[in-house]
Amino acid sequence: MKLNDRGLLVVISGPSGVGKGTVRKALFSMPKNNLVYSVSMTTRTKRPGEVDGKDYYFVTKEEFIARKKAGKFLETAEFVGNLYGTPLDKVNEQLDLGNEVVLEIEVDGAQQVKKKVPDCVMIFIVPPGKQALYDRLKRRGTESEEVIAERIAKANREFKLAHRYDYIVVNDDVANAADRIMAIIRAEHAKTDRSIHKYMELIEEN
Ligand code: 5GP
Repeated sequence: MKLNDRGLLVVISGPSGVGKGTVRKALFSMPKNNLVYSVSMTTRTKRPGEVDGKDYYFVTKEEFIARKKAGKFLETAEFVGNLYGTPLDKVNEQLDLGNEVVLEIEVDGAQQVKKKVPDCVMIFIVPPGKQALYDRLKRRGTESEEVIAERIAKANREFKLAHRYDYIVVNDDVANAADRIMAIIRAEHAKTDRSIHKYMELIEEN
């Protein structure tokens, strides 16, 4: 019998400013997890405090396009004038090791992942209210008024795509939201479709 299940590919999306990054960090600090974060590649400029290779791989547009042509991304998307993509190599390697791979990506990229990996788990994080979202975006203070306005417009469009996801998690409280995501991951592993093969093998062994 196989001892290790293949890990889950977990896709987390949500409107800009919903606190996805904070929820993800809380999720990763939970005890006994085997979560691996897929560090994305982007052409956007680094924000203060961001670390290359940890928050993102920051690359030029030319480099990004060359990698895309070489088929090195699981998905890519343009978001408010910048390119973002999930490097393919690490994802498969970590899933095979039995780790859960978490992608924190926007909605267009998430749709591409769903098509390529239909058994991924799609989670959409929503704020307790729209005002909370706008306040967060403004408070972050790292973007110009123009970019903030674009991100708010984009957030409003993203809201409408929540129905494409398997689960909706409200970020009313960071620790609660992280708990709910962990509960989803555990429940997904127990789904019959994912686990029946193990028991079939057990029966056949006897
Ligand atoms: P930010 O510029 O605020 O870091 O990210 C902007 C948006 O791009 C966020 O919704 C974030 O989740 C998304 N994003 C980050 N990395 C990727 C990626 O590799 N692919 C896609 N499709 N979206 C990404």
